Amino acid sequence: MNIIRKWLWRQIDLGTFDNQKAIVTFALSVSCRAVILASLSSLATIPVLYGLGFLTMPVDQVVKMTVAFSWLFGGAFSGALAYVAGLVIRDLTQSRAEFERLSRTDTLSGLANRRAFNDAFSRVDGDASLAIIDIDHFKLINDHFGHHIGDLVIQEISTVLRQVFGERNLVARLGGEEFGVILRGNGIAQRLALVERARSLVAGSRFFCDGIEITATISAGVAEFSAERRPEGVYARADKALYLAKTDGRDRVLHEAALVSAEETSGDDRASSALVFDGLRAEG
Ligand code: GH3
Ligand code: MG
Ligand code: MG
Repeated sequence: MNIIRKWLWRQIDLGTFDNQKAIVTFALSVSCRAVILASLSSLATIPVLYGLGFLTMPVDQVVKMTVAFSWLFGGAFSGALAYVAGLVIRDLTQSRAEFERLSRTDTLSGLANRRAFNDAFSRVDGDASLAIIDIDHFKLINDHFGHHIGDLVIQEISTVLRQVFGERNLVARLGGEEFGVILRGNGIAQRLALVERARSLVAGSRFFCDGIEITATISAGVAEFSAERRPEGVYARADKALYLAKTDGRDRVLHEAALVSAEETSGDDRASSALVFDGLRAEG
């Protein structure tokens, strides 16, 4: 039983039940196997039945009948059963895939949710950046225009982020008005430039939410993954850079490299953090 279960799961993973044609092929192959098995086992019992005197017909007729009945009943029955089973399994596979997709998607923004983000985050192995992005003064938007408009602003900004970061990078809504982006490849300077592009696009946009024109800005903290660094460390650095971006005046992107200079100067030297960003941009 366990072997059949494992075999069925393997077929599901291989996509054996993906479409109608695949299910018919599956039903036919099950039917053929059932007929061969039924024919062979019936033929094997013929000599025994003759020996016990249960069969009086000529042997060639018994063989013909055995094969014919195997096809008629065994083949048709098992084929029909396999076809229905294939349809049911296809439906279950589709709902499982849909459930899996929904459980990893944020309902408000349509972006990946925190669960999907955490999964991807724990699997990053170097050569990637983490950007934590937060909408500035979002509470004011909520207080001014109401929670519903706040939701629409989150959706608008999510669309901008999806467009800027594309398929290559994972964009997730971590909760509230905070987003996490895992940027892969391309080099640090270009990844940072992409986050900066998202910031400037949001800052330069006018969002029309239920007829109300709204402008908004975002701030971001960026940190680098590396083989020596634990994911929590990367997150903490990006979060700290975001905090600095907020205290620095918002509507800005700060790389963790800026933290070194900020820590050295107790966070008062605004120019140093800007210089770090410019330096990284020049590098690219
Ligand atoms: P800062 O620039 O420092 O980030 O200020 P802020 O006002 O954006 O930050 P704060 O954390 O004080 O406010 C975030 C607000 O977001 C508070 C909360 O009510 C609101 N919020 C959280 N989740 C949602 C949501 O799903 N929809 C809406 N409309 N508001 C949300
Ligand atoms: Mg905020
Ligand atoms: Mg926030």
